[in-house]
Amino acid sequence: MRMAPIDRRGLMLIVSSPSGAGKTTLSRRLLADDPAIHLSVSATTRPKRSNEIHGKDYFFVDEATFVEQRERGDFLESALVFGNYYGTPRTEVVKAVEAGRDVLFDIDWQGAQQLAEVMPQDLVTVFILPPSRQSLEDRLRSRNQDSEAVVMDRMKKADSEISHYAEYDYVILNDDINRASSELKAILMAERLKRQRQTGLSQFVRSIIGT
Ligand code: 5GP
Repeated sequence: MRMAPIDRRGLMLIVSSPSGAGKTTLSRRLLADDPAIHLSVSATTRPKRSNEIHGKDYFFVDEATFVEQRERGDFLESALVFGNYYGTPRTEVVKAVEAGRDVLFDIDWQGAQQLAEVMPQDLVTVFILPPSRQSLEDRLRSRNQDSEAVVMDRMKKADSEISHYAEYDYVILNDDINRASSELKAILMAERLKRQRQTGLSQFVRSIIGT
């Protein structure tokens, strides 16, 4: 723990990638290794998968509830992603950032674009690329025994997500999970030290210079 913490706003670290590029593994590692960053848990209308927990992976809601929440302004951003609605709860995120806590977002390019409109100064965006088309296809294929048509459909979705890579601040090529993980941590560390983010800096500096 730091002896003389300098106040700063929390940052919003957005990690996007096509499914199959290792984003989930990278996010989990970051959350496990860095207790100072927390995951923003989105709401979704997608059916829950057997390994998912309501309130931990997502808040699973029906479409009527989602629409009602969106209309009430409960979401900081929301999007239709491949047929299901997803949204980032507003209150938790705003509170965390204002209290100086960092938040990790596993959201798509539409979410990244919308958050850039509302909280641009707090945003750090990272895109994860797979090392090759073949590796992406292998990853998508190895998940379960899906038909060729399902795999091809996932590849098309991946192409659409990847086409937005140039809108991001950072790009990590995930050809080695350990290296990619270190690179993501390095981005977070450097962004935390940005002078503009350290709102308590002038007060701190005044306390150490002799005037
Ligand atoms: P999945 O249903 O496989 O968990 O996620 C599908 C896609 O939706 C992923 O690209 C994921 O990053 C994105 N996603 C998850 N939550 C949100 C959210 O709250 N907002 C947006 N815009 N995208 C999200």
